[in-house]
Amino acid sequence: METLLLNRNQTDTAAAIIQRGGLVAVPTETVYGLAADALNGKAVAKIFRAKGRPMDNPLIVHISEIAQISGLVSDFPEKAQKLADAFWPGPLTIILPKSDRIPDEVSAGLDTVAIRLPMNECARELIAKSAPLAAPSANLSGSPSPTTAEHVKKDMYGKIDAILDGGDCEVGVESTVITLVTEVPRILRPGGITAEQIIGVIGETKIDDAVLNPLKDGQTAASPGMKYKHYSPKANVVLLKGNSDQFIRYVNRQKGNPVVLCYEEEMQRIHIDYFSVGKENDYSTQAHRLFALLRDADEKAYDTIYAHCPKTDGISLAVYNRIIRAAGFEVTELEG
Ligand code: AMP
Ligand code: MG
Repeated sequence: METLLLNRNQTDTAAAIIQRGGLVAVPTETVYGLAADALNGKAVAKIFRAKGRPMDNPLIVHISEIAQISGLVSDFPEKAQKLADAFWPGPLTIILPKSDRIPDEVSAGLDTVAIRLPMNECARELIAKSAPLAAPSANLSGSPSPTTAEHVKKDMYGKIDAILDGGDCEVGVESTVITLVTEVPRILRPGGITAEQIIGVIGETKIDDAVLNPLKDGQTAASPGMKYKHYSPKANVVLLKGNSDQFIRYVNRQKGNPVVLCYEEEMQRIHIDYFSVGKENDYSTQAHRLFALLRDADEKAYDTIYAHCPKTDGISLAVYNRIIRAAGFEVTELEG
């Protein structure tokens, strides 16, 4: 298949592709999405084939204005309204009971649907000109999410109808996913909107166990995406827990072909190859850079990536959630 490379001013062409049931990669403020008309089950099924995504992993439906939601959900509770007022447009996805119009391909057979109103103008323009868009991240299933059009090209060229280039994604990690169908609202995936911000608006909110820990045998995932291996570069990711001195001593002893993801403050003391994730307390920059750095490490054919185990407050919880999956949940405790 020929993949058209479109620029930010070609949303008319992209909209026509969506309306005839095609696939377009679109920029959003989180990561690039691989979009199809959310109300066209056949078009949505193509997303799963292009990505190699398991069919039981549901998709997020993206809207361009809040009025569109009425046709997509069967209930819009007060807490959803509060969250929408506070965080939309933006990187928050809300799970609600679905309407009959949502095809099974989108919800993976669940009776709920995930909805988000993105901030990115190019994405909203495309939705307004075409339809609500079902879109997961525009990467091959399992690999790090794309934060530039170039990343999308690497994974999807020849497999989809078009890539709309809207520049770099600002946030760099996927949206926060919260479900409002449980008695107490529950965060299923941390992202650009923090747990602290959400609690500030709707009060009591739980963080699902699977955010921080692997699922135990036999445990079912509230969010099916959480049970799959995710975000993995080809290189082996090793997470190290300890202070800066311990971290630097450990990585400087490593032989072979490794690269270190370090804080900016540590760069001068590291004597093997490294990439800076940003300043230690600058979580937003760390989130923004994470996936691009995992991809860079593969481009440069490093075989191991040594990284600090991230903190679990603020947007760093999203970074932790992604990298711990990339590392297969293994953390090495540094001593001495
Ligand atoms: P992605 O599209 O790859 O960014 O992932 C979307 C995430 O939202 C996945 O972890 C899905 O499992 C989750 N998700 C989407 N729809 C639902 C839903 N109706 N119920 C629970 N989780 C959902
Ligand atoms: Mg994804």
